[in-house]
Amino acid sequence: MTITSNNNYDVAIVGAGPAGLQAALVLSRTRKHIIVFDSPEPPRNHASHGVHNLLGLDGLLPDEIRERSWSQISVYESARRIREAVIAVQPADGGDFALTGSAGTAVRARHVVLAVGYRDVYPEVPGFRECWGSTIIPCPFCDGYENRDRVWGLVANSELALEHMPLIVKHWTTAAKLFLPAHVTLTAARREVLEQQGIGVYKGEIVAVHHTHGMVEGVTLTSGEQVDVQTLWWRPPEAPLPLTRQVIDTFHLELDSSGFIKTDAFYQTGTPRLWAVGDIKGWAGALGAAQAAGLAATAIVRDWYA
Ligand SMILES: Cc1cc2nc3c(=O)[nH]c(=O)nc-3n(C[C@H](O)[C@H](O)[C@H](O)COP(=O)(O)OP(=O)(O)OC[C@H]3O[C@@H](n4cnc5c(N)ncnc54)[C@H](O)[C@@H]3O)c2cc1C
Repeated sequence: MTITSNNNYDVAIVGAGPAGLQAALVLSRTRKHIIVFDSPEPPRNHASHGVHNLLGLDGLLPDEIRERSWSQISVYESARRIREAVIAVQPADGGDFALTGSAGTAVRARHVVLAVGYRDVYPEVPGFRECWGSTIIPCPFCDGYENRDRVWGLVANSELALEHMPLIVKHWTTAAKLFLPAHVTLTAARREVLEQQGIGVYKGEIVAVHHTHGMVEGVTLTSGEQVDVQTLWWRPPEAPLPLTRQVIDTFHLELDSSGFIKTDAFYQTGTPRLWAVGDIKGWAGALGAAQAAGLAATAIVRDWYA
């Protein structure tokens, strides 16, 4: 499709989660001509029963937060929302960008805000998906309260998780068991600390989650051992979305030590006028994602006439 003048935008925002919508709000109020692309695929947090720790919006469903936000953004008549995934961002002349959508929409923009988030790679474990977001939780600050005083299983997928999970879990329960995959090493000193805390250690991968209507009741380990738990704190591995890979490759973007897109303090990547905000930079939480996007939006405006 040929890009026409009607398809020229000041800012193209890719992704309409907390990050993308916060950027759209700030930029709408500065009267920029904006397009917001959002994939029709369910967002990362679609399984959430209520987003918590977001001031003034605590406990609302992800879709409710999005719709409420969009109705407020629409008031400013600056942003157009399109339910289409962006499949490519390419350089255009004058330092602009050309974006192509999965349904053939082609636009050009002076700035691009990448707010596509990140992808959880769900383990192929029976029962995982049914319980995900309710009694299998990625983050205790998000859903720990709703799982308070239950027997928790801590899936310690890394040395860091092994260190901090047993400490943090105490805010929500005193009954915890720790699952230790083969690739994580438990030192004698750490084992002693866990024993003092009354946390039993179970070695091996979880191969099945037993549940009734999404409520965890126990797990089976590689050894065949069955362990009773009621909640699993289990953060699955993450992977960048296809568009993120395309943009990194096309613009030769530098990555940080954790493998996320490197930006400056205002979330501008190494390519001028290309910004990356929210979970695309590592788990941000809804508030953190919005905060980053708000900062990026003010930086976009600050340099507009420079
Ligand atoms: C189960 C679960 C529960 C959670 N609960 C909480 C909680 O209670 N409190 C909290 O603070 N945080 C919670 N989080 C984390 C929170 O959801 C994220 O940190 C936050 O949503 C990140 O915002 P974002 O805008 O960066 O990304 P996202 O919210 O993931 O939004 C990205 C958007 O971009 C879209 N997209 C992806 N690719 C494309 C593309 N190519 N083109 C166009 N659009 C695209 C996606 O569909 C999505 O709509 C939870 C996460 C999960 C997984």
